[in-house]
Amino acid sequence: MKNSSSSRIAGFHKLSVDQRVKALASFAQLSAEDQAHLLNTGNLPADMADHLIENVVGTMNIPLGIATNMRIDGVDRLIPMASEESSVVAAVCNAARQCYDSGGFITSMSGTWMIAQIQLVGVSDPEHARVRILERKCEIEQLCNECDPILVGLGGGFRDLEVRVIKTQSQTMVITHLIIDTRDAMGANAVNTMAETLAPRIAQWTGGQTNLRILSNLADRRLARARCIWRTQDIGGETVRDGMISAYHFADADPYRAATHNKGIMNGISAVVLATGNDTRAVEAGAHAYAARRGHYGSLTRWEVTAEGDLAGSLELPMAVGLVGGATKLHPTARIALKILGVDSAEQLARVIAAVGLAQNFSALKALATTGIQKGHMALHAQNIAMMAGAMGEEIDQVARVLVQSGKVRLDWAEKALSELRSR
Ligand code: NAD
Repeated sequence: MKNSSSSRIAGFHKLSVDQRVKALASFAQLSAEDQAHLLNTGNLPADMADHLIENVVGTMNIPLGIATNMRIDGVDRLIPMASEESSVVAAVCNAARQCYDSGGFITSMSGTWMIAQIQLVGVSDPEHARVRILERKCEIEQLCNECDPILVGLGGGFRDLEVRVIKTQSQTMVITHLIIDTRDAMGANAVNTMAETLAPRIAQWTGGQTNLRILSNLADRRLARARCIWRTQDIGGETVRDGMISAYHFADADPYRAATHNKGIMNGISAVVLATGNDTRAVEAGAHAYAARRGHYGSLTRWEVTAEGDLAGSLELPMAVGLVGGATKLHPTARIALKILGVDSAEQLARVIAAVGLAQNFSALKALATTGIQKGHMALHAQNIAMMAGAMGEEIDQVARVLVQSGKVRLDWAEKALSELRSR
């Protein structure tokens, strides 16, 4: 740490959190106040944060909100959502309110199976190699299960074997899929260990070389599904319903629109995934890959009109989330979030999350097809702008109100409104 402007800081990982913050302060000229802020890690102890990731210098707190009105498979649930984006929690509450009396959401799941891939290259007879691997299914099952007796004891473990021959830019490859039931774990570590254990055997059986050994985030053996019917009279009539269907058709046909449509769905999904200490990137990667599975990137949701003329929405997507493993059991807020949800299996959690995604999409489509997205956003956005202008405490609402009333939700107007308020 001789040169405070160099990013080459030998042994940074070996320092304590305090020492790292000091090193960082010298690099980035952080004030004493900045350093104290970083060291205030809130409700995630620095010690624990330091064990979750590397080179920790603080924590990043984001708001945790509760979505109300959710009725899922006949059970009322309050949904903890971690998000920095305004309107996301409100969107779920609104959608759920509009279908509560007609029964809420119905969910299901295809299972809790994950896929681990083993890449085999350098075989001159890939089809032959494929069959040779498939012949070893019983041996493979045993090898996989020996890797994780705890998982097997809980009813999980090896379920199936698939071997695919794929043509790539460089050569034909033989890709083995281990299909593993990971029960209440997301399962990345569990299945990666199995893939790494098995790879040398596959090389030995086929005479090729194994290369990558890792799970696929396209967890299409772990699909969570949610469906719901919104009565047309509860959502503002046929014009609203038809506008929403048309918005969905647009998203399903056009990847430019689908990206934003699905981003909205993930606003809800990722917020619950994060609140429960699960891996948001894993779920997002799976969702977007699934949305493109037919070779065209389209909508993750489906919207139709029922025989009675009501609006029927459904959502299906991979949902690799767990109640154990990763940060789920370690992060104290995640543990409380799971308690609030009251779920007792990873499957239940995944199904709740799918319902939240569908609710989110309902609200986004409805807003877009009627008043536009900005109206709902603006009240909360105005508060953010007021805070950016320096408003504190009660000033935030007062300045935000002025901005919304004037229709100019801009920083310069917020600064003006704040100085007028303070000079009164
Ligand atoms: P893990 O290895 O920490 O825990 C899973 C293990 O817990 C199981 O193997 C089992 O032995 C045990 N276990 C105890 N009770 C269980 C129960 N009821 N059900 C199932 N297993 C039980 O965690 P993991 O779920 O294997 O891995 C998740 C972590 O891996 C996440 O933090 C994720 O971010 C990370 N990860 C993700 C990727 C990816 O998505 N591409 C890659 C690598 C790592």
